[in-house]
Amino acid sequence: MRVITTYTSPTTGLRALGDTSWHRRAACRDLHPEDADELFFPLPRDHDAIAEAKALCASCPVRRDCLNSALENGDKDGIWGGLTESDRRPWHDGLPQRLDYQRVLAVFNGRHVHLTAKERDVVISHAYVRGWRADRLAVALQVSQHHARDLLTQAAYKIAHRDRTLGVPPQPKKRRTKRPQRPQPPATTPPVAEQRGSRPAQPQSVPVPPARHGAFGKVA
Ligand code: SF4
Repeated sequence: MRVITTYTSPTTGLRALGDTSWHRRAACRDLHPEDADELFFPLPRDHDAIAEAKALCASCPVRRDCLNSALENGDKDGIWGGLTESDRRPWHDGLPQRLDYQRVLAVFNGRHVHLTAKERDVVISHAYVRGWRADRLAVALQVSQHHARDLLTQAAYKIAHRDRTLGVPPQPKKRRTKRPQRPQPPATTPPVAEQRGSRPAQPQSVPVPPARHGAFGKVA
């Protein structure tokens, strides 16, 4: 915001986390930083300055993005999106309770958007019900895998408790079908001489023919 540019492409609905491209379409982009500070951070009773700032914001094409950004970043001072600090106070106070399913869906479609605590809870519960693995949830919420695993475990307890309370019968567990085992090739024993550390093969003893005996003793 308050940056000199000629960028004029239209806005694109939900802003991604960290996306500041809307700054370039702001009506206040050509203001000198000192003038902008003076205009958008007036004294509480400077009604002329407040009216001037609001008039500029009224013609701004990114007014909504500006307001959302201030809410999401907790910017409680100054004029943002055409609203003064006192105008925005109820919005700031109510933000943690916002439940915008458009944002929840955006996360399931692979986008990184700002979520309130309530929207985040819905994403985690749906991820658990959909059978997401921890690594997938970790990417969606930009948290560590370890933390994502904890979140899924907590969601499992929460949903089980809810089902018990409402008398919902538990889902039958899916049985894993055993894969047929592949026939193993017969184990081949390497030749004795090839075995590591084996002793050299002993020479086979030549069988000695039995001595010939007569009916009463050795034949001379
Ligand atoms: S809404 Fe007002 S403060 Fe926000 S970017 Fe537009 S002109 Fe600037």
